[in-house]
Amino acid sequence: MANVVWHKKLRILLDLTRDDLDHPELPDLWDTVYKTDRFYGRLGVPVSERDLQCGGVCRDMGVEAPMHLRMRGGRREAVHERREDEERHSVPMSDEHKAYQERILRAAHEGGFGGDSEVRTRVGRTWIQTDTLVEGADGRRIGWEVQLSTIDERGLRGVRARAGKAAKNGITPAWHTDRPAYAQRNDTHWTRSDRLPAHVIARNGDLRIVSGFRVLDFWHCDTSALYPCPHGMRRCGKAHATAKPRDVFFDDMVRQTAAGTIVPIQFRAGKAVQRYWVTSADRDRLEDLDSDDTRLPPDRETTPTTGASRNRPTCQPATALSAEQDPTTPAVLLAARPLLTALPLQPAAPAAETASPDLEQRQAPTPQVTDATTGLPTELITLQQAADGAHHRLQQLDDHYEQDLQRQAWRQAAAVVQAAVTHYARTKRLNRYEVEARLRHLVRRTTQ
Ligand SMILES: [Zn+2]
Ligand SMILES: [Zn+2]
Repeated sequence: MANVVWHKKLRILLDLTRDDLDHPELPDLWDTVYKTDRFYGRLGVPVSERDLQCGGVCRDMGVEAPMHLRMRGGRREAVHERREDEERHSVPMSDEHKAYQERILRAAHEGGFGGDSEVRTRVGRTWIQTDTLVEGADGRRIGWEVQLSTIDERGLRGVRARAGKAAKNGITPAWHTDRPAYAQRNDTHWTRSDRLPAHVIARNGDLRIVSGFRVLDFWHCDTSALYPCPHGMRRCGKAHATAKPRDVFFDDMVRQTAAGTIVPIQFRAGKAVQRYWVTSADRDRLEDLDSDDTRLPPDRETTPTTGASRNRPTCQPATALSAEQDPTTPAVLLAARPLLTALPLQPAAPAAETASPDLEQRQAPTPQVTDATTGLPTELITLQQAADGAHHRLQQLDDHYEQDLQRQAWRQAAAVVQAAVTHYARTKRLNRYEVEARLRHLVRRTTQ
């Protein structure tokens, strides 16, 4: 049973707990709908071909679940035709899910924002059901939807439609999960935390978002650039943006989305459009870039966060990684840079970024000095990727002349990475062979 029914023809939701079905503008609605349904029943019209569907969790999950009406002991009831639909209603909310709802509300409250769980927002003749709704600054509303490993994959049907409907009606959808497979979906702006038990989620301690938030690196596509040109050119001379993963605290995410200092964007990486959360300053710079990519977008002051810390930027947008400015860059890399940037094709970093959580971790910290899991400098990783990319390209060529050119490029790239590894191992007093093996393993594991 469910107490919310969707009427297919009238395109309205009926709330059976209310006398007027929550439609005061339509008198005698119950009588009409009920009699019609009984009439269909007498004619033998199958329930699935009538007008009524479950308007509760089934509809929320994008499932069309046929229902019929009945009176029981003077009470109005709607009954699922299929048992599997009925069962969807009896899955209790997990403790983890409840802990998230409480955490969101507490974090919001601490930031001076109100909110509530299981909120129904009226939209014309229907409504939107929100897991936890945070009332942010300037009328901003953030609709948190938590989808944990404790529920079944069917819960993900209709995510795009639900998120789209919320957005259209002034609710910024914020879907959160602990499942890597969900977080990689591109149907809305997913954030993910590690899978944690309820008592940890409920506590005040650090709860991190490990994917879904990015910082944008704005850089100039010239010979000093570390990233490959997203247009696949050698160097196009324009300005580009690269989105780099970064961890944020869950509580900060809740408060800053409410404050409007963290916002959802759609980011084009090659042909793909990806969905991330970024600071509003990064979003503004990206808009500047989109309207004029002949120069680097001007620095924007990070918009203040909430309450007392109005002037303290909590998420400084990263400036483009410049090897010269980075004191940790080994001298050999500085010397080798012209070689590196002259290489034809490096693996396209932004496109690959969302491919695996490992890869995200690898590129997570900013400024990117070392890789979080292996401790290897990211410069080494970039160089190894360049060398592997050059080799890969060589293998794909048929023409002898092109092969010769590409072979030279590959050898140069390989020499650069070898020199860099030697330098790094020597300065850090590490076994050179082991460093190289670790580096190759890391790069090849994450790019395949
Ligand atoms: Zn249902
Ligand atoms: Zn370019």
